[in-house]
Order: sequence, then structure tokens, then C-alpha cells
Amino acid sequence: MGDIRGDLHIHTNWSDGHSSIEEMAVGAKTLGYEYIAITDHSAGRGIAHGLDSERLRRQVAEIGALNERLEGIRVLSGVEVDIRADGSLDLPREMLCELDVVVAAVHSSMNQTEEKMTRRVLGVVEDPDVDIIAHPTCRLLGEREPVAMDLEAIAKAAARKGRILELNAFPSRLDLNDVHASRARDLGVKLVIGTDAHDVAHLPFMKFGVGVARRAWCEAQHILNTLPLEELLAVLEGNR
Ligand SMILES: [Zn+2]
Ligand SMILES: [Zn+2]
Repeated sequence: MGDIRGDLHIHTNWSDGHSSIEEMAVGAKTLGYEYIAITDHSAGRGIAHGLDSERLRRQVAEIGALNERLEGIRVLSGVEVDIRADGSLDLPREMLCELDVVVAAVHSSMNQTEEKMTRRVLGVVEDPDVDIIAHPTCRLLGEREPVAMDLEAIAKAAARKGRILELNAFPSRLDLNDVHASRARDLGVKLVIGTDAHDVAHLPFMKFGVGVARRAWCEAQHILNTLPLEELLAVLEGNR
């Protein structure tokens, strides 16, 4: 936990979270972090209060103002953009290019064939506007099986493109799991541990993600959110 410098998957009361951006930033600072990324849902998922471009631009402005006031933590602007059933993204390219971090994830049509789902996600791995694929298999422990998907092909493409795969630390997800994370590490995929926090009380879930990463024999060098802010930003820039 001492190696973790930030959390790149966080929701707020702008979408379906419970805490404000500032509450999340202060909570993260209390944990000793240097940075967080605010990644609320895009509108198309059908989630109450998902953000369209107009509201997202307003949020980016609010984050900018907050960074002026806050000391000791940097808030990055981001989004968790929905990967639609046809593989297209829920926000236009111009919008994604304005953000520090773009997280993309599947939240619908999870019963597609393996071929279709693999093609759907591979297209996003190839997309230079996306940084991170979140909770790649979409499993929910005790509730939903992982989607049918050729994860080997996706990990290989991610390694080639410098795309980042998330190890989601939310206790009901832990996705990638230990075996997948270990294989991704072997293939040279960049990994990130994100909590998917929807409340300031969820930020400490990071430890569960760290536990899975350790089961996967990952070290700090394999996990991007152990990097200092400037180095992290350089990696994100380099992949765009
Ligand atoms: Zn999600
Ligand atoms: Zn999320």
C-alpha cells in the first residue's frame, strides 16, 4: 500500500457516486496519495446522471478551480466512457482529448458471443483516445460470471499498443483476477489498480486490489499508479 500514489477510477455525486469531488480529493490526500482521477460515468449507459459532453466540460472546469484551491493533491479530469454494444464509445473524440485520463468499460450487452465481445473490446484497445480498460471481464462475485472474451488476445494487443488494463479493487469485482493479472504482467501489459470508489468510504478498497496484484506476483514497477504524478502523466501522454 505504501507504493500506491493515487487512484485512477473514482465516481462522485456528479453521476452515481455519493461524495463530492472535493470530499474524494481530501479523502485521498488523507491516505497519502499524490493524485486521483475523477472518472464519472458517461450518459449513454442509462445510469442516472451520467455525463454528456456539456456537463463533463463543466466538471473539468470545476476540477480546475478545485486544483487552484487544494494543496498536496492533484485532481485529474477523466471519465468512465461506456463501450457500446457495437464497440463505439459513448462520447465524441474531441471530448475525450480534453481529459487527462480516459477509462473505458463495458456495462451492457454482456451476453454477446466471445467473438463479438473480443472484437468490441479489441477496437477500444486500438483506440488512441483511451488510456485504461476498466474491470475487463465484468464479473461480479457471486452474482455475474465473467463475459466470454479472448483475454489473451486483448492483453497482447494492450501490450503492443501501450494500453493499460485495470485491476479493479472493488470487493465484488477484483477484475482482473490474479491469474489474468499474472498473465498480463508476463506479456508486458501496463496495469493499474483502481478502486471504482462511489463514496469516500470506498477509497481504502485499494488494499484488496494490491492483494490481488501481489497474488499475481506483481511488483510496484508493474503498477502504474505507483508512479509519481509527472511520470504517470508522461506515460498517459505517450500512449495518446
Ligand atoms: Zn464500470
Ligand atoms: Zn466505475
